Amino acid sequence: MRQISKIYFTFKGETFNNLINQKNFKLFSRVTQKNLSFGYLCNNKKMKDSINIVWLKRDLRTTDHLPLYEAENKQQNYIIIYLFEPNQINYDDYSLRHKQFIYHSIIEMNKLLKKYNREVMIFNESADVVFDYLTSKYDVTNVISYQESGTKNSWLRDKKIKLLLKKNKTKWLEFEKQAVIRGSKDRNGWDKYWYSYANSEIINNNYSINDYLYEKTPFDFSIKKNKELEKYPSQFQPAGEKYALKYLDSFISSRGKNYNIHISQPEKSRYSCGRLSTYLSWGNISVKQVYQKVKNSSNYKLNKRAFNSFLARLKWRSHFIQKFEVDCSYEYTCINRGYEKMEFKNNDYLLESWKSGNTGFPLVDASMKCLINNGWLNFRMRAMLVSFLCHYLNQDWKRGVYHLAQLFLDYEPGIHYTQFQMQAGVTGINSIRVYNPIKQSKENDTNGVFIKKWIPELSKINHKIVHEPWILTDIDLNGNVIPHIYKKPIISTDFKNSSVRKKLWSLRKDSFVKEESIRILNIHVRRKTSK
Ligand SMILES: Cc1cc2nc3c(=O)[nH]c(=O)nc-3n(C[C@H](O)[C@H](O)[C@H](O)COP(=O)(O)OP(=O)(O)OC[C@H]3O[C@@H](n4cnc5c(N)ncnc54)[C@H](O)[C@@H]3O)c2cc1C
Repeated sequence: MRQISKIYFTFKGETFNNLINQKNFKLFSRVTQKNLSFGYLCNNKKMKDSINIVWLKRDLRTTDHLPLYEAENKQQNYIIIYLFEPNQINYDDYSLRHKQFIYHSIIEMNKLLKKYNREVMIFNESADVVFDYLTSKYDVTNVISYQESGTKNSWLRDKKIKLLLKKNKTKWLEFEKQAVIRGSKDRNGWDKYWYSYANSEIINNNYSINDYLYEKTPFDFSIKKNKELEKYPSQFQPAGEKYALKYLDSFISSRGKNYNIHISQPEKSRYSCGRLSTYLSWGNISVKQVYQKVKNSSNYKLNKRAFNSFLARLKWRSHFIQKFEVDCSYEYTCINRGYEKMEFKNNDYLLESWKSGNTGFPLVDASMKCLINNGWLNFRMRAMLVSFLCHYLNQDWKRGVYHLAQLFLDYEPGIHYTQFQMQAGVTGINSIRVYNPIKQSKENDTNGVFIKKWIPELSKINHKIVHEPWILTDIDLNGNVIPHIYKKPIISTDFKNSSVRKKLWSLRKDSFVKEESIRILNIHVRRKTSK
C-alpha cells in the first residue's frame, strides 16, 4: 500500500502547493477536468504499484483472447502493450505494409477498448529496454502473452526477456496458440489435438472499466513522426477484427461456394478464396473462431465440399507453423540439410527481373506486379513464382525468400519458409513440383483476364496469344515490331526440361539426403503404428 503524502490541485497548469519537492514525490493519481486538475502525490521511496502486462504480438484482437481473459481474471490492474521492436521490424522479412497493418489493427482494437478506458500502448523500442523500464516503474507480477513461433530473431529476444523477467521475479505466462505445441518431438496424436482445439469453447472476453491512470512513458510511439504508418493504402485489405469478421461472413454467405473450382485461378480466387490469411497471421481473428463459424453455419451443408477443403487448409496452417516451431533454422537452412550441397547459377540480373515482375513471362510478371500492388496472391501463383525462380531461373531459394515475405501482407514465418522450401523442392520428402508458367497461364488464366489487368501492354492482345506473346510474327502484328508488344523473355521459352529438377531428384539418392528425410519424417509426419 502507498501512503498519500500530499493532496494538490492545479488551475490552468499552475500547481497550488509550493511545498512539494518534485524529486521525492511522484504523481500517483490524477483527475482532470477542463482547466482544473486535482490528485494526490506519493513518496517515491514507497512500494511500486503492482500491475500485470499483456504483451500482444500476432494476436491483435479483443475476442477469443486468452491472455486478455487471464489478465481480467487476475483482479489486478493491467496494461496492454505492443512493441514495435526496431531489431524485429527492420529485419529482412518485414516491410512497411506489415507495420501499417499492425498499426491499424491496434487502432481498431483501441476503438473497441475505449469504452472500458483501456488502450493498447505502443512502444517503439526493443523488448529488453521496455521491460527494464516497466519493471523499474511498476511491480510487475505477470507478463501474459501467447507463445510466438517466430524466426530466430524472436527466439533470441524471448530468451533475453525470460532472463530479465526471472531476475525481477516476474512470471511470464505464455499460452499455446492455434494448437502449435512447444517442445513437441513428433506428430503422434497431433491431428486429434488440433481438432480438440478447433472445437473447444470460444473465449468470451469481458472487460472491466479501468480506473487506473498510467504514466506516459518515454517510449511512446510518436504518431506525428510516423505519418507513413498512419496512412493506410486502400489497395490492401483493411486491418482489424471488424474486417476479419466481414470477410469471414461474406465467404460463408456467398463467396465460398466456388472455393474449390476457383482456388487455382489467379483472378477468380481473389473472390472465392477465404482471404482471411492476413487476419489470421496478425491475429485479428483466431483459427478457432473461423473454424466454428464455418462449421456451424447454415450454409455448411449446402457447400460441404468447398467448406471442408477450406477447413482442411486451416489445419494445414497450424501444421506448417508446428514445423517451424520445432526448428526455426528453416528460415535460412534447407529443411533437408542434404540439399545444402545443391549448386545454383545465381545471377543478379535474373533475380532482379523476377523481383520486379520483368521476366517477359506474362503470368509470372502479372503475379509479381499484383503482389507488389496489394500483397495477396493465391496459393498456385505463389508456388509458381517460387518454382520459376528456383527451377527455371536456377536461383537458390534463399535469394528470393525475403522478397516474398516482405510483399505478402499475410506473412507468417511458420508457413512462409516451410512452404517456400517445399515449392523449391529441398525438403526431400515432398514431390518436386515444377510449374510451367505457360501451362499454368493457359489453364488458370485462360482468357488472360489476370494478365491483362496487371500488364496493360498486353491488354489488346488476343487471349490465345497473351500467354506467350513472343510467338507473334510480323504477319500477326500487321507490320508492328515484335519487341514493342512485350519484353523479350529473359530465359529460353522451351520448358520441356528443367536441369534443376533433374538435380533435385538425383540428390534424393544421396545417403545424407536419405538420412535427413528419415529424420524429418520422424519429427513432422504422423507415423502409422504397425499392426
Ligand atoms: C511460397 C509460399 C509462401 C506462402 N506464405 C504464406 C504466408 O506467409 N502466410 C500465409 O498465411 N500463407 C502463406 N502461404 C500459403 C497460402 O498460399 C495462403 O495461406 C493462401 O493463399 C491465403 O489465402 P486465403 O486466406 O484466401 O486462403 P484459403 O484458401 O481461404 O485458406 C484458408 C486458410 O488456410 C490457411 N492456408 C491455406 N493454404 C495454406 C497452405 N498451403 N499452407 C498453410 N496454410 C494454408 C491460411 O491460413 C488461409 O487463410 C504460402 C504459400 C506458398 C506457396
